[in-house]
Amino acid sequence: AVRPPKISLVDKAKSLILEREVIIDERDLEEPLWGLEMALLESDVALPVAEEIVSSVKSSLVGSKKKIGSDTGDLVESALRAALLKVLSKNVFDFDEFIKNTPKPVKILFVGVNGTGKTTSIAKVARYLKERGYSVVLAAGDTFRAGAIEQLETHGQRLDLKVIKHKTGGDPAAVIFDAIEYAKAHKKDVVLADTAGRLHTNINLMDQMKKIVRVTKPDMLIFVDEAIAGNDAVERARLFNESVPITGTILTKTDADAKGGSAISIAHVTGKPIIFLGVGQDYPDLVKFDPVWLVDRLLG
Ligand code: GDP
Repeated sequence: AVRPPKISLVDKAKSLILEREVIIDERDLEEPLWGLEMALLESDVALPVAEEIVSSVKSSLVGSKKKIGSDTGDLVESALRAALLKVLSKNVFDFDEFIKNTPKPVKILFVGVNGTGKTTSIAKVARYLKERGYSVVLAAGDTFRAGAIEQLETHGQRLDLKVIKHKTGGDPAAVIFDAIEYAKAHKKDVVLADTAGRLHTNINLMDQMKKIVRVTKPDMLIFVDEAIAGNDAVERARLFNESVPITGTILTKTDADAKGGSAISIAHVTGKPIIFLGVGQDYPDLVKFDPVWLVDRLLG
């Protein structure tokens, strides 16, 4: 008969030691937490956001138990990974499902400051929807910036989409309202509305956004900003979200920013999801945001 292998006394003793647990105290965490905070900062996560996330990881670990012999660094890293995923997965938002389930025309307003890629993102989303069989109308709601209407019209021509416009200087809420009426009359599925994004006059801009929202009652409000803007983008996200609560963010130019920590900061300060990433200048350069992918990229 085959005998089961004997467990040696030494192995038994080892396993007993391994099963024993110790309480984690603050000193054990100092070094690994410091290292991870540096990693977050190097990935362009805003300082207050990195500090807040790291301190929440710290308080979740201090006083908890770990097996003797297990690596505190590993524990800290997996706690941080969980904390980052929590920030990024808050209010998970499925864009495709939302479009499918919202009565037509679905009204989507794009907000954000000039130069961040708002108009390009509108065109990208228009193409994304067209590819999925939806009919799309564009509303030239940036009546402030010279050239904004023409820019949207150029995209409209390339993508073969109707663009509703008024004159430069006109009332943006009225343009968007007209686009919605057009969509209703012509049974279009989605209205994508541009808005002004002039810098330096934030108070007026926010008042204008509030008025547009009041008049047009959008189903979705997408904040657009660029990954390379760092803390400026985070502050703008906060400002817009406080004035006209956003549904989520499109973070552009992530192809230029290899790290993407601003996604963490923006999701953290707004409490809203990142919906898409802009990954280039062409229409197909729009990808659905995947929290796991970003956290893997940040933590390696
Ligand atoms: P707007 O003023 O916010 O409407 O910005 P535009 O849509 O005009 O974009 C400003 C510039 O950023 C243009 O040159 C775009 O081609 C470029 N851009 C927009 N999105 C992206 C992106 O995801 N990646 C890169 N590399 N460039 C982008």
